Amino acid sequence: MLYIGSHVSFNKDTQLKGVVEASLNNNANVFMFYTGSNQSTVRFPINEEITRQAHKLMLQNNIEKEKCIVHAPFIINLANNSDERKYQFYIDFLKQEIDRCIKLGINNLVLHPGSHVSVPKEQSLLNVANGLNEALKENQDINIYIEFMSGKGTEVGSNIDELKTILDNVIYKDKVFICLDTCHINDAGYDLTKFDDFLIEFDKKIGLDKIKCIHINDSKNIVGSHKDRHANIGYGTIGFEVLVNIIYHERLKEIPKILETPFVGEKSPYKIEIQMIKEKKFNDFIS
Ligand SMILES: [Zn+2]
Repeated sequence: MLYIGSHVSFNKDTQLKGVVEASLNNNANVFMFYTGSNQSTVRFPINEEITRQAHKLMLQNNIEKEKCIVHAPFIINLANNSDERKYQFYIDFLKQEIDRCIKLGINNLVLHPGSHVSVPKEQSLLNVANGLNEALKENQDINIYIEFMSGKGTEVGSNIDELKTILDNVIYKDKVFICLDTCHINDAGYDLTKFDDFLIEFDKKIGLDKIKCIHINDSKNIVGSHKDRHANIGYGTIGFEVLVNIIYHERLKEIPKILETPFVGEKSPYKIEIQMIKEKKFNDFIS
């Protein structure tokens, strides 16, 4: 089964119901959203009645909540603990974000591992694991998906070994997984025309069962550029065919694929990109 959707916005008035409606309008059967701004920790209260209506709408339209995702804001940085007070703030904010996910009934949270800044790389990976160990509780119904990063600036988690170090050091191993991102993997230095080589290495070191989500983006930059600038599918250096091969890969069938491609002017590209993916046919909708 193909699980395809996109990032959609979560607004104060329509909340999860607005997310579901926007996704249905795009003919998506999964979605991802931030519970507020991706750049700040300002959050408004979750409305239970709207959440109830959203779940009803999901049931009526065969959207499986187990496949849908919340994305934590970018500013959470568990890698750098040089400022104890800030590090603790991020852990506490992550706890609140986990509570919001549970309240919304969307129990999968994508988290960027962060940037090490001045902290030695090896220590920063342990900081991420320690932060998760403090934020998570044993009987909590939550899955954290650590995102594979491009290695922009001092970002950590931009290769398989670093992600493995994080996973090896988390206590609740049944709650921590990996989210891939095709743009990030490309920019981190893996040639996606040889995606099977990547999967073989990932399987050997971490295990393919740990992959729970894939962000589908083309890249504005070449392999190994460490830039992280997303392009619309078919309009970047990865290309439409390579992306379609990943989306329909035999070993990744049940994994939700989420588009985070840029808007074209003011216009959302997701409806048309989802259609292109479903038809496996590129349609030049920009130029
Ligand atoms: Zn992300």
